Amino acid sequence: MTAFDAIRPPEEETIADCVHCGFCLPTCPTYNLWGEEMDSPRGRIVLMRQGLEEGSELSPQLVTHIDRCLGCMACVTACPSGVRYDELIEDTRAQIERNYERPPHEKLIKRAIFATFPHPARLRPMVPLLALAKALGFTRAARIRSGGLVERIPGLRNLLQLAPEPELSATVARIPGRTAARGPRRGRVAFLQGCVQRVFFHQVNAATVAVLAAEGFDVDAPAEPRCCGALQLHAGEDEPARERAKETIAAFDSYDHVVVNAAGCGSAMKDYGHLLRDDPEWADRAREFCARVRDATELLAEHEPVAPRAPVPMRVVYHDACHLAHAQGVREQPRGLLGSIPGVEIVEPPEWEICCGSAGIYNLVQPDAASELGARKARNLLGTGAEAVVAANPGCAIQIAAHSERLGRRLPVLHPMELLNRSIEGARDGHNG
Ligand code: SF4
Ligand code: SF4
Repeated sequence: MTAFDAIRPPEEETIADCVHCGFCLPTCPTYNLWGEEMDSPRGRIVLMRQGLEEGSELSPQLVTHIDRCLGCMACVTACPSGVRYDELIEDTRAQIERNYERPPHEKLIKRAIFATFPHPARLRPMVPLLALAKALGFTRAARIRSGGLVERIPGLRNLLQLAPEPELSATVARIPGRTAARGPRRGRVAFLQGCVQRVFFHQVNAATVAVLAAEGFDVDAPAEPRCCGALQLHAGEDEPARERAKETIAAFDSYDHVVVNAAGCGSAMKDYGHLLRDDPEWADRAREFCARVRDATELLAEHEPVAPRAPVPMRVVYHDACHLAHAQGVREQPRGLLGSIPGVEIVEPPEWEICCGSAGIYNLVQPDAASELGARKARNLLGTGAEAVVAANPGCAIQIAAHSERLGRRLPVLHPMELLNRSIEGARDGHNG
């Protein structure tokens, strides 16, 4: 008997790759916060190794330190030995969710999250409610701790301060199933609409499709799959994640490239090969699928730009979403694309590698640590003096907007595709005019 069951436990050979050098420690947000060895990548890998030993148990101590990990993968970027911590944490989390009895309130929170977030049809009715909360000043009151009704209802402040602020039009807005390339056609791609992104960040999806079409791609954006399973995968809910992965692979079987614009979704989709590695029917298909997934900035960086760009005079700070920079190694492509827009000045923040604390559902289940990291990130971004932040993940956008508002100046957060679309649209308007 060990702490782990026989279903895909963290792999011993991967654990053995860690030589305990400690190079990952300075970039680990939780080690930064608490200075505890067991809250570092190295310490967590030791806990995983101990969990594989005969007679070990899934102790509350092990669960606590694994729960506190943001899954930001800054340690993967920093590790000179190439330790696949991303695979280790994914497998360990699934073991915990399957075999550890969580207290009822924790179960309830997670159940509520997974019954809502991965379901666009359940998120849509929330749009008018969130718009009303914003119009009545509740979301701002929650962020600046102004007291009043928001403080008196337990839990309401926590919920409202991280609430997205979608446009009311998101209640009815839809991306067309098919959008034709503008000008000479350079290919046909599939686009994943996502769940949270589709509803709360409809304008980002619309901009992405418009940019792809302007750059010569026919874009198919089917309504299904409704969700790629990223939130579940990163939280250890591996059975639903495996189901979502199979649906996603099947939906996009016939495309050379599957384009995604949310960092968390892209990293999950590129991870399907690991997730489905022991499924005889799906393992090869999943590996082959991963090779076809592209972040929108990656795909565009692989092709010479053809759409004319108009100037967008703006000083922006680029925020590296962890699941894009660390989990997918995509750092240069978004900077290159932003650099192709005349008038855009890109500034770099201190501590680019440290997570903003959003991390999937982390800011909902570990609010204190997430809040400290959110404030630290917002201070670093505000300190650059930039007028807006550019970030390619919905969770980061919500977290940064909320924490900068709390510090006194709400930073607008744009997706790289929104800025690029603004420039391309500007050139078209200028030409037409
Ligand atoms: S994970 Fe990598 S960087 Fe961190 S201690 Fe192990 S070998 Fe060193
Ligand atoms: S994933 Fe992030 S929080 Fe977790 S151990 Fe690695 S650096 Fe630390």
